[in-house]
Amino acid sequence: MIEKAIVFDIQRASLHDGPGIRTTIFMKGCPLDCLWCHNPESLSASRQLFFHYDKCTQCGDCARVCTENVHNFVEGVHTIDYDKCALCGKCVDACNFNALKISGKEMTVNDVMVEVMADVDFYNSSGGGITLSGGEPLFQYPFAKALLKRCKELGIHTCVETSGFVSPFKFKQLLPIIDILLFDYKITDSEDHKKYTGVPNQAILENLNAAYRYGTSIILRCPVIPEINDTDWHFNAISELNEKYPKLKAIELLPYHDMGNCKRISIGINETLTEVNTVLPETSNKWIVQLRSLGCDKVKIG
Ligand code: SF4
Ligand code: SF4
Repeated sequence: MIEKAIVFDIQRASLHDGPGIRTTIFMKGCPLDCLWCHNPESLSASRQLFFHYDKCTQCGDCARVCTENVHNFVEGVHTIDYDKCALCGKCVDACNFNALKISGKEMTVNDVMVEVMADVDFYNSSGGGITLSGGEPLFQYPFAKALLKRCKELGIHTCVETSGFVSPFKFKQLLPIIDILLFDYKITDSEDHKKYTGVPNQAILENLNAAYRYGTSIILRCPVIPEINDTDWHFNAISELNEKYPKLKAIELLPYHDMGNCKRISIGINETLTEVNTVLPETSNKWIVQLRSLGCDKVKIG
């Protein structure tokens, strides 16, 4: 069977998604809906129209080619009726200012491997490899499994950046073909986890435990969002995980950045986290000091 997935970006020569020089494959689709998501175009598993409103000159060429009346200009504002878009791509081609794109492309494992293999010498010389990211890359499970398996057969190092929200049965099957997990730890209380991400965290914690007991190398990634999880209680819980799992490779704090807000507007999502500002370096440094005082000596900014 040919496994396919909707991929919204492939970044070559990536240096921040695991060791060495890597190719990061960003897959669409996520079962969570975190308001602070910095890749909101990954939430939907489908292709979608993406509007760079800051590049738009309001020339109107997009409206002239669109047969679905998606593009409208009301009192000097270019509005988009995303629900009507048939994803034909005509407006993308018509726009001379690169203000429009279709986010997401269907790719087979072979398609992705062509891009992966182009940098194999760099992986070998730097200790790099591939990283599956998203969205939640395990949401398109058969494709993720097939791609990881192919890489391992070819001796390519594999990282997976995951929320951990996947069936424990399926997750365990992947452990032999994942070298490093970049595993999110978002919110301690399960009810709050559900409130802010849309799902509870029991299965996530079960998967974290299974991966650790299996011996997978794990970098715990902790997004810290002011007013939501920058609490002593949550930091204490991170330090308890650090004690429970002493062989964690690292703990990375991911301080909130508001760049996801613009992207949400670009794909027609109106709900944003406007009341929270991008975290200043002095605040992140304070969190690092606090966590180190709690015994997390491997903590750093991710
Ligand atoms: S064609 Fe491009 S620049 Fe012109 S109105 Fe449409 S989106 Fe804006
Ligand atoms: S992709 Fe096609 S249907 Fe969608 S807005 Fe552009 S021209 Fe219209």
